[in-house]
Amino acid sequence: MHCAGFAFHVVAQDPASAARCGTFHTPHGAVDLPAFMPVGTQATVKGLTVDQVRASGAQMILANTYHLALRPGEAVVRSLGGLHAFCGWDGPILTDSGGFQLFSLARNTSITEEKAVFRSHIDGNLLELSPERAVAIQEALASDVAMVLDHVVALPAEPAVVRDATQRTLRWARRSQQAQTRSDQALFAIVQGGLDPELRVECARRLTEMDFPGYAIGGLSVGETPAEMYRVLDVTVPALPEDRPRYLMGDLLEAIRRGVDLFDCVLPTRNGRNALAFTAAGPIRLRNVRYADDPRPLEADCPCAACRHARGYLRHLFLAGEMLGPILVSLHNLTFYQRLLSAARGAIANGEYTAFADEKLRCLGSLGT
Ligand SMILES: [Zn+2]
Repeated sequence: MHCAGFAFHVVAQDPASAARCGTFHTPHGAVDLPAFMPVGTQATVKGLTVDQVRASGAQMILANTYHLALRPGEAVVRSLGGLHAFCGWDGPILTDSGGFQLFSLARNTSITEEKAVFRSHIDGNLLELSPERAVAIQEALASDVAMVLDHVVALPAEPAVVRDATQRTLRWARRSQQAQTRSDQALFAIVQGGLDPELRVECARRLTEMDFPGYAIGGLSVGETPAEMYRVLDVTVPALPEDRPRYLMGDLLEAIRRGVDLFDCVLPTRNGRNALAFTAAGPIRLRNVRYADDPRPLEADCPCAACRHARGYLRHLFLAGEMLGPILVSLHNLTFYQRLLSAARGAIANGEYTAFADEKLRCLGSLGT
């Protein structure tokens, strides 16, 4: 890699799948891969202190460029010392580029070759985001890993629409790379191409020629089925270089099987706020009356702060509208994800990932978006 303070090493490869474990070194510390990044949309993992996030086992978190550019604005974050000082997290931070939010959250988004123009979902103001501006915002935020701005389309879409967005994503990747001025930030590219395997492979190959320090598989979780997503991963990941990390928003266990290293997902915290706890035996919906006098913790072997309490107490917190309920169950769910990833890394190192993933998927489902 050509950026200062970064390195990526594969330390074990599962013999029966593309799953691999490795280490990703950044200027703010190392991350064991495959890794799950809690989502800190507004420079906070909702409801949790950074010490609690750290205690869950997380090594790297994600923050959202779109949200932080709108509020408080990247100049404020920079004046307060950059994202690490701003939110108090001293480990690695990844920022997305805003491409997905332009697609999913902004209003009246129109995309030209030059830039995206959209209305803020907060106050309706007309705003612009270009590849150069997305890099400049992320450089001001001073995340460790930044993402290029990509053109995301909803699926299903006409082939011509997907092809046009993919070609633009390639041109925007080049512009993003040329706009980069920081050498202590790794800029990852994003592979687009809809559900078209040839387009995916072409996009991955052309981005690889541009030599990015890491690659995301983008344009998924936008209306396709899980089987369609897996087919995209099956063709895209082998077209990416083996010596660079690969990042996906969403699905974990099936994507690890296909060679993805880095994940984020809002499910553990969003579900935690809604009284749904993940356990190895399946989800627990704490509002269910059956847990009213249940003396057991969510999981007997879980070291998190929530699991010092009875399920009946956690349920009571939600029914009473106490803020501690969402906090504790978010913390448990993040701990659950980190323990699952730790076990996955162990299974890969032992060459047993296929059996591990099959068994977990039977109990848990995909744990994706
Ligand atoms: Zn727990």
